[in-house]
Amino acid sequence: MNWKRMVERIAGATVLMMAASFPARAQVASAAGPGIPANNSPVGDPPSIAREARGWLADLIKINTSNPPGNEQIAAMYIAGIMAKDGIKADVLDLAPGRSAVVARLRSTAMAEPSKALLLVAHIDTVPVEKARWTVDPFGAVIKDGYLYGRGAIDDKGMLAANLAVFLELKRSRARLNRDVIFLATDDEETSGDASIRMLIAKHWEKFAAGFAINEGGNVFVKNGKVQYVGVQASEKVAMNVAVIARGTSGHASQPTKDNPVVHLAAAVAKIGNYSAPVHLTAIVRRYFEGLAPLEDDEIGKWMRSMDTSDRGEHAQRVISDASPLWNSMLRDTIAPTILTAGVANNVIPAEARANLNVRLLPGDSIDALVNELNKLTNDPQVKLEVQPNAGLAAPPSSLESDFYGVITKVVTQEFAGAPALPFQSTWLTDSAQLRLHNVQAYGLVPFPLTQDDLKRMHGNDERIPLTAFDKGVDVLLKIVKEFAVAR
Ligand SMILES: [Zn+2]
Repeated sequence: MNWKRMVERIAGATVLMMAASFPARAQVASAAGPGIPANNSPVGDPPSIAREARGWLADLIKINTSNPPGNEQIAAMYIAGIMAKDGIKADVLDLAPGRSAVVARLRSTAMAEPSKALLLVAHIDTVPVEKARWTVDPFGAVIKDGYLYGRGAIDDKGMLAANLAVFLELKRSRARLNRDVIFLATDDEETSGDASIRMLIAKHWEKFAAGFAINEGGNVFVKNGKVQYVGVQASEKVAMNVAVIARGTSGHASQPTKDNPVVHLAAAVAKIGNYSAPVHLTAIVRRYFEGLAPLEDDEIGKWMRSMDTSDRGEHAQRVISDASPLWNSMLRDTIAPTILTAGVANNVIPAEARANLNVRLLPGDSIDALVNELNKLTNDPQVKLEVQPNAGLAAPPSSLESDFYGVITKVVTQEFAGAPALPFQSTWLTDSAQLRLHNVQAYGLVPFPLTQDDLKRMHGNDERIPLTAFDKGVDVLLKIVKEFAVAR
């Protein structure tokens, strides 16, 4: 398939067809009328492009990109079509059958300076849905009570639409850029598979090489009706899987033996499941808790400040770990048994039983050391642990001293009524790790102010975004990018 021609065609007639099959823009415009406040932002009106971006977000939700299989190509063509209408020539990069990424660039000068360039990153694919557990059609882009519902509304089509809005606003306003701004929509992020950013970097790095990036990974956390803090992701944990394999003698279930692998596996998994790895405070996590302590209630704040002390440290670490699964996972390597496999028939003792452990390592920690520890713990010659292929790679953290980090923290503090920006080490993985491994100072910030309830719906049921939070996020992202990339 000739992508150039394809994109040009989309720019013309096909866009009309797509607009007809995704009529969400008109629906959003009308539904956003009565009942939905135009803006409850404390700092003035959102840019009008945010209104338009609501329509793009609705359209993107209606294009099902559940991964597997992803099928991001249609959404990639849709994005290229939107850009073409504003005279931007986007590259739709084909990475596997039906799977594509999108790259586009606004130039500051004739000669590109990759080390200065700013990359706006979001992924096109989403996790799948358990449709029966949703109260609305997950691909219907339904608007209810001021929320836009749909798979990807937050993760990550919300940010994808916001990046598109910022990019087009720079183009339309003929902003005088002091660095190139590059739009990148990735595919296959949710499974980090063969069509993911790894492949994109290997094949097309020169198209989006940059010194700085903004991506998902951090959030604007709303608590008790206001923004408590803004977590700017500068580092992330490393995901990998370890198989637990118990072997024994297969035989007739009427004559049980001591070496039944099901029993040995169950015992090993129980021990591992109850294990808690030692706390290891990385520089970013240390700064995170220092910044968070004054914002929490006195009791929690006190223990956050005590985690590093010799006398009360251990108790403090336990209190903070027990208070929140997120905090627990920021403090240590974690191990979650996720899959058990054993048995062929009710009356057969199998020769083998297996479990999968999903491990999230702190950056800098070694999987070999952890596996060693687990071997000592299970202490069973019938049980073996095997690190699985495709383990994540630890990336260096992004600098907390870069100009871009400074701009992000300055703008968000202004925009969210003085709420502080804290460096954040996400327990989940993002495309930023691969970028950081290529010397990009990448920061994670989904710019929409969201409550814990809204955040929990990501990857869950009834994912939704408050439309006012979306507008606000577009505004904040635009201000960050303008502050960093537009000459004054
Ligand atoms: Zn995501």
